[in-house]
Amino acid sequence: MTDSAAPGAAEHRTTDVVVVGGGVAGLVAALECARIGLGVTVLERADRPGGCVGRIELDGLALDSGAESFATRNGSVAALAERLGLGDRIERPNPSGAWLVWGDGGATKAAPLPRTGMLGIPANPLGDDVRAIIGWSGAWRAWLDRVRPILKIGRAERLGPLVRERMGRAVLDRLVAPISAGVYSTDPDDLDVDVVAPGLNEAMTRAGSLSGGVAQLVGERKAGSAVLGLRGGMHTLVDALLAELDRFGADVRTGVRVTALDRREPAATEDGRPASAWRAVGEAAAPDGGAPGSVVVDARFAIVATPAHVSRGLLAGLVGEEALAEEWPDAASVELVTLVLDAPALDAAPRGTGVLVAADAPGVTAKALTHSSAKWPWLADAASGRHVVRLSYGRAGAAGPLTALDDDAVTELAVRDASALLGVPLDRSHVRAAGRNAWRDALSQAAVGQRARVRALEEAIDEHSGLAVTGSWVAGTGLASVVPHAAEAAGRIRHLAVHVADDA
Ligand SMILES: Cc1cc2nc3c(=O)[nH]c(=O)nc-3n(C[C@H](O)[C@H](O)[C@H](O)COP(=O)(O)OP(=O)(O)OC[C@H]3O[C@@H](n4cnc5c(N)ncnc54)[C@H](O)[C@@H]3O)c2cc1C
Repeated sequence: MTDSAAPGAAEHRTTDVVVVGGGVAGLVAALECARIGLGVTVLERADRPGGCVGRIELDGLALDSGAESFATRNGSVAALAERLGLGDRIERPNPSGAWLVWGDGGATKAAPLPRTGMLGIPANPLGDDVRAIIGWSGAWRAWLDRVRPILKIGRAERLGPLVRERMGRAVLDRLVAPISAGVYSTDPDDLDVDVVAPGLNEAMTRAGSLSGGVAQLVGERKAGSAVLGLRGGMHTLVDALLAELDRFGADVRTGVRVTALDRREPAATEDGRPASAWRAVGEAAAPDGGAPGSVVVDARFAIVATPAHVSRGLLAGLVGEEALAEEWPDAASVELVTLVLDAPALDAAPRGTGVLVAADAPGVTAKALTHSSAKWPWLADAASGRHVVRLSYGRAGAAGPLTALDDDAVTELAVRDASALLGVPLDRSHVRAAGRNAWRDALSQAAVGQRARVRALEEAIDEHSGLAVTGSWVAGTGLASVVPHAAEAAGRIRHLAVHVADDA
């Protein structure tokens, strides 16, 4: 329902559920509510919903500007894709795997990443593929892990110290750190073992060593690809979610930055259960670029699905101070540069599906490169002879290296890095198009202490209040964490809605 009666409000809506933030978490939660007939309004700051699952158009190609795949580990994203009619578009990546590039006495070296390992921790420290990267001395040091007694008391909390102590610096710096940087934008010393490697503590105790524990977990992994994608790109998931939301009559408002969420007149039903009402207040950019108008949405239920720093601001007056008082880590930033290239030398996919870069690689600023058109068969078809590579920039604890550069300088740097990382001469003449996307809210949820902070926050939210919080900052990074969490958060709202309706 829309009216303009609220004093001072350009636009006033009343609905059952207001969802703040239209990333995948917000859209999934909205859909779960809309499906059972609840009226839903989603308020999204950007012009296009989807958040980190974004799209960039380059040289006539619609490409992913953020997430490009999903983890298969719990089946939740594939199940969502199936429900949205995208089941037959699920694709496996090229199984050839990625490479590692590192520095050795001023020279740049490259080798395929070891096949059997976890987060870079090798299951077989003396394997040829491991020795190619850390040499015999590093491999022998790593092998000592097999013969040194494992500490039975307590659990390993931080990944970095665990690997350093059991397998030595070479494994940590060359194999584990590049993956931590590339995947989590976090130093391995800050990564929580139980979050990034669930089951590893137990497997280590059973096997009596770190590499033995890794070998057990690798052996238990189901056959098949650990990640999958969607033909056409992951951003097509957002299009499908929006189409389904439209079908169920949900209202997705873009260009609205929510500035406040207030609890108003928390009335009670007859049995004393609170039937809270919520008011979200936002600023809508005026279409003509004039002064922003205000949007007010009143709802029985509210779901907050914005990134960490926004959510904490919105929740500040709503949950006990202690729940948000603890230091939360700053959001890690990552900037992606996508290049569309005419470069037949890349037809042979010289670095498989891409490259992770050790911090000591000389003369390279990027921390990772994905050879997207080598990784995804659908993209190779769509690109018809062109190549798409995507470089990512920004290491934990360091200032973003592209922040001060203009687009031209960024393209220049990215082409130089791509050439060094792919081992193929490339210059500006090979570039057909280039684009950049900065992700400033890409917070790592794998850092030590995050689980306790999230637990405190979740406990502080009264489950009967009609407020739910979701999104990667509480669910964990990645679609396989976000999708089921958002569905559960919406499930709690649905439950309340049904019971409040029963009581009425
Ligand atoms: C570069 C990159 C690559 C990634 N690659 C992968 C991958 O390959 N596979 C994978 O599984 N995961 C990947 N991820 C992680 C995954 O994309 C995220 O975990 C997931 O998309 C987060 O979804 P979300 O809805 O919780 O948050 P977001 O996507 O951050 O959505 C939050 C939304 O809230 C909106 N918002 C912010 N402030 C306000 C406000 N005040 N009012 C209204 N709206 C607001 C934002 O505009 C945004 O749309 C990647 C992430 C990044 C950044």
